[in-house]
Amino acid sequence: MARYTGPVCRLCRRETMKLFLKGEKCFTSKCPVEKRAFPPGQHGKDRRPKIVGYGLQLREKQKARRIYGVLEAQFRNYFERAARMPGVTGELLLRQLETRLDNVVYRLGFATSRPQARQLVRHGHILVGGRKVNIPSFQVRQGQQVSVREASRNLVPVQHAREMAGHQGLPTWLEVDREQFVGRILSLPGREEAGLPVQEQMIVELYSK
Ligand code: SF4
Repeated sequence: MARYTGPVCRLCRRETMKLFLKGEKCFTSKCPVEKRAFPPGQHGKDRRPKIVGYGLQLREKQKARRIYGVLEAQFRNYFERAARMPGVTGELLLRQLETRLDNVVYRLGFATSRPQARQLVRHGHILVGGRKVNIPSFQVRQGQQVSVREASRNLVPVQHAREMAGHQGLPTWLEVDREQFVGRILSLPGREEAGLPVQEQMIVELYSK
């Protein structure tokens, strides 16, 4: 599947906020958003019109897509699935994104960023319920165990992520044993637990037009 391969810090600057796409660098003063919190491009600094209506809805959707590294078609599928489920569509949308395997691996602190978590999953380093799963979009269910394969626990990125895990904290809907590289979903995340800087209602409004 086609993926965005350009400079990722540019994506954060476009949203004028940290999306934490690069791992360790995001927590240091080298983060470009710390120095240049305005959109990229020649006129990024001086041309900042107030965004309202459709523009605002679009920005919220793009922000969510970029945080989770999901392409447009897949993102729309998440929305359509959420719209068919009973409950609050925006919250169900965020829940599906949060329970993606690559996101759970990142949240458990087995990777320093979602792109790195995605790569660990793709390369077969991650087990769900003791079985290898190499699909980043795999939906992890409540109670399911997610772990790093024993042979992969000494990989430099995995060890490094364990050292860095304190920076990102652990969401309340997860539990983890970082010594054993095993984690579990305690409860399905709601809007508050996801703790994202995204107004999901704007995304619902955008797709409901
Ligand atoms: Fe975004 Fe991280 Fe780059 Fe900062 S360092 S702009 S948070 S990807």
